[in-house]
Amino acid sequence: MRGTAHRFLNRRVAARRIGVTPPVLNALAATLLAVPAALFVANPPAAAQQATVVFVGDVMLDEVAGEEIARGRDPLLPFAALLGAADLAVGNLECPVSTGGHAVDKVYTFQANPRVMPIVARHLGAVTLANNHSGDQGPGALVQTMDRLRSAGIPFFGAGRDLAQAHAPLILERGGLRIALLGYLEFKPRSFEAGPSSPGVAWSEDEQVVADIRAARALGADVVIPVVHWGWEKEPDPCPRQRELARRMIDAGADAVVGGHPHVTQGAETYKGRPILYSLGNFVFGGFPPGPCRTGWMLRLVLDRQGVVRWDTVVARIDERGVPHPDPDATSPCGARTEEGVKSCREGQGR
Ligand SMILES: [Zn+2]
Repeated sequence: MRGTAHRFLNRRVAARRIGVTPPVLNALAATLLAVPAALFVANPPAAAQQATVVFVGDVMLDEVAGEEIARGRDPLLPFAALLGAADLAVGNLECPVSTGGHAVDKVYTFQANPRVMPIVARHLGAVTLANNHSGDQGPGALVQTMDRLRSAGIPFFGAGRDLAQAHAPLILERGGLRIALLGYLEFKPRSFEAGPSSPGVAWSEDEQVVADIRAARALGADVVIPVVHWGWEKEPDPCPRQRELARRMIDAGADAVVGGHPHVTQGAETYKGRPILYSLGNFVFGGFPPGPCRTGWMLRLVLDRQGVVRWDTVVARIDERGVPHPDPDATSPCGARTEEGVKSCREGQGR
């Protein structure tokens, strides 16, 4: 059944995305060749086109963080300057934002009040919905969440009204670069997955992930970044499946892989010179006792047309109300295209 749905999707995505016929391409190429070279010289050199994109982990705005917002406080305020300094800030919205939902049969279910939306819009330029809570209040609440995000001007990815929309890349232009974001869930329940004509999230079916990354390139993306919700909770290291899928995504053309879900940070490494952050941990998330679940990373990527130029992480210490605070004295992973492997930096050193 799943395989059928994904075969259907492959055909549909291919038909939708490669809609330009060869004669049109030939005509386009002829037109481009006919344009005087001076026109191209007038454009800034490709190397000068850079953008800074930051990623944060789970943003869960129900419970204590939701109560903070109800009292007029902004739990993202301590990170406002760091998020606002980037050309784009991306987070994982770990809750439906809806009213009138009915919790599905599941251990933990969340639902944030719509009053949280202006806070999300103030700090985040895009969110992934591919996580194990987007479907907590049923598919109707997910559709409501997507509608509310659209109304608030917050682009999202990793979920949609149907399977094709859930797997479509979100392409945003920053600093002259076309940045494609893809979101995937691979932590239960799989019932949250979108169907050929039903709303839900994108599941990380390997062949489909590879096809999605290639399709994003075919759509003209300069940089492609998958964000994956995966791994075992509270494990400090990634599992073999995470390592395998991360490599497969980079082999398919991903420029970096960003992970989350385990509630703790997990290791970082590079593969073919491209960074993999297995888990950014929690970001805005209350209810955890003092310990590793109260530390997250904000990942900062400096991008150009060839992918990641350099990257670093900023340590977030999460207080008892679920509010993250930057810890400028902590060291955490960082790296650069020109260097082998992963280093450890203090905030600001890896920029
Ligand atoms: Zn999760």
